[in-house]
Amino acid sequence: MNVWQKEIRTLLLLLLPVSIVGGVTGFFLPLIFLLTVGLLIGQIIQVTRFEKWVRKGGKGQYPNTKGMWEEIYYHVYRIKKNEKRRKKKLSKIIDQFRQSTEALPDAAVVMSANDEIEWINKAAQEVLGLQQSDKGQRIPNLIRFPEFIRYLKFGDYSESVILPSPVNNRITLSIRIVSYGPGLRLLLAQDVSQLKKMERMRKDFVANVSHELRTPLTVLKGYLETLQDLDQGDSPLLADSIRQMQGQTERMQHLVDNLLLLTHLETQQIKSECVDIPAMLSQICNEGDALKNASRQRIQLTLEIDSHIYGEKHELRSAFTNLLGNALKYSPEDSVVRVRWYRTEDSLLLDVMDQGEGIAVADIPRITERFYRVEVKRSKKVNGTGLGLAIVKHVMMRHDAVLHIASELGKGSCFSCRFPIGRVCG
Ligand code: ADP
Repeated sequence: MNVWQKEIRTLLLLLLPVSIVGGVTGFFLPLIFLLTVGLLIGQIIQVTRFEKWVRKGGKGQYPNTKGMWEEIYYHVYRIKKNEKRRKKKLSKIIDQFRQSTEALPDAAVVMSANDEIEWINKAAQEVLGLQQSDKGQRIPNLIRFPEFIRYLKFGDYSESVILPSPVNNRITLSIRIVSYGPGLRLLLAQDVSQLKKMERMRKDFVANVSHELRTPLTVLKGYLETLQDLDQGDSPLLADSIRQMQGQTERMQHLVDNLLLLTHLETQQIKSECVDIPAMLSQICNEGDALKNASRQRIQLTLEIDSHIYGEKHELRSAFTNLLGNALKYSPEDSVVRVRWYRTEDSLLLDVMDQGEGIAVADIPRITERFYRVEVKRSKKVNGTGLGLAIVKHVMMRHDAVLHIASELGKGSCFSCRFPIGRVCG
């Protein structure tokens, strides 16, 4: 028998004697009324007890009662007990998560949509100098590096930003933001000081070796020129050997110069001025030495604008010369190379277009890497160091510009340098 059937049975059992007594005495209605009032009072008492028990949090054993109310108490008691168990489990998980994030060697900060700090771990206190009392404060008010603020506001969160630690400038941090929910972001800061130190050592090593090679190369070049002058033409083997040695020393010198330029680009602060780009392009296109003999007739220069830009003259010259040199090198000697200086709504662009061998799609992302040269069977050997485009990419980065490469195998390539309109000057 379920609880409702029991309740109806009790009601009937009460109703029966009341009806009999009521029928016999003639007080049927008053007795029914009294019974109803009694039952109502009973229910009010039960509801009051229940409300009192629930108000106190439904803790502990429920009051001793029978019938429907016992069932209600039992179900509420069970729900509360399950909830308590679930809460306990959840807080255990949260505790474990807290402990693991506290033990993380990387700094972690949970931020709200308004960049307010919601939670920090121990490493964040050590390397970012944040305190537990900083919760609720906006993070750009506490980490004030302009690069960081720019990254936070407009950053591409798929990349990280490298900054010194605000509390110890010997620590270098790689900071990255991860979005993980509506308006919620996690800031992770990793100590990359050791990596940076090794990178610096590598750069110093390359710079030192390149620098030290300069003098012996100059001496070698000088002696080779003297030998060539002394050569009477008696031995074709000697003349050929001297020519080859000259070619190789020139190549080495080019390599050393490029390595030194790359080191300069990586380590030195940029010194900008207003650069007359149309004049520079005209000069580069007319120059014979860098572009070799008949090349001059192959170049079509179109200057659609007269805009100057704010930048480093020598770096820009080197980048443009490299692009033009490549276009001439990797295209047939009778084909045209187009150079175009123009603007769009938000950018200034320099396009260098050739009708040469083109570059395979898979190679395009890699050709700006140092020493990367595409292996192509050519009728004529093309000399190069594989450093030219790495230099171009670096120069572009230092000018807030982007190098875009479009190419099709067998048809030609277009290298575009896109400068932001904000760089216009003069
Ligand atoms: P390199 O000294 O070899 O020219 P770069 O860094 O300038 O070095 O170029 C890297 C590679 O990219 C080259 O070896 C070449 O294979 C490819 N490349 C560069 N420019 C062009 C171009 N205009 N057309 C076809 N391939 C090119």
